[in-house]
Amino acid sequence: MSQPEPDLAAIVRDVVADMHAREDRGTVATYIPELANVDPGYFGLAIVDVAGNVYAGGDCAVPFSIQSISKVFTLTLALGRIGDRLWRYVGREPSGNRFNSIVQLEHEAGVPRNPFINAGAIAVTDVILSGRQPRETLGEILRFVQFLADDATVSIDKDVADSEKRTGYRNSALANYMKSFGVIQNSVDYTLGVYFHHCAIAMTCEQLARAGLFLSCNGTNPLTGLSVVSAERARRINALMLTCGHYDGSGEFAYRVGLPGKSGVGGGILAIAPGKASIAVWSPGLDEAGNSHLGRIALEELTRRTGWSIFGGVS
Ligand code: GLN
Repeated sequence: MSQPEPDLAAIVRDVVADMHAREDRGTVATYIPELANVDPGYFGLAIVDVAGNVYAGGDCAVPFSIQSISKVFTLTLALGRIGDRLWRYVGREPSGNRFNSIVQLEHEAGVPRNPFINAGAIAVTDVILSGRQPRETLGEILRFVQFLADDATVSIDKDVADSEKRTGYRNSALANYMKSFGVIQNSVDYTLGVYFHHCAIAMTCEQLARAGLFLSCNGTNPLTGLSVVSAERARRINALMLTCGHYDGSGEFAYRVGLPGKSGVGGGILAIAPGKASIAVWSPGLDEAGNSHLGRIALEELTRRTGWSIFGGVS
């Protein structure tokens, strides 16, 4: 029996109102000093469906730091650059550890578990940097994100990048450790510089939802008609988002929301409903695993009402 089309405008309106009213907002990340200044009261949501309709509400037009969500875009670029050879430098298994954990790297000879934990994303950035200068690489990443979002105004928040660079001791440790195993090819300073800057890309929910749309549509952006990756590659990126996109909260996210998703410590989440839509949500307060607290709750509500979970369950 076919399901009635969900009333997305009403769903966005209700979810935004529910989330604005909630008192439990998690805690903003403080280890990047610039992010500690963000007001936890923000809540934004945007859905772009495969026909190009936009349903957005709350603070959906306020740019925020996408942080680890950028790792979806760098993974896409690195796969485009060296294809399956990428898997020599990074694995494809969920980590079950915190996003910045160092302990697993020793057991696994410096090869990070997956491209979405920090160590894995630093290794992916290093692959993109090979054969280029840092500035050129960063320009390439930014232009790719602008191309995906079909919006040349997407930019990097320099204050956030500098703030993380000043305090990025742990990422520095991860990168140096990987370098000792030969997993990092370039200068650790260069690789980290590019990594901190791509994490500091600022986008609105609407821009981010547009940028993710190719993953909902077999690798082609239906708004521009341009192919980004093959359908097979889009499917695989979605699989990694589902299994690894929320670090040690990935199981909980799959259980509650049921969509491939990628979170960032800026409080954003990009979620992909294959064949339906791309969804971006932003609420700066995080849960213990470092994922947006209200962002996850909002997406849970959204998949319950739309029936978009990839696991079915609509009655
Ligand atoms: N730039 C952040 C870091 O490296 C990204 C972490 C995240 O968003 N989970 O710590």
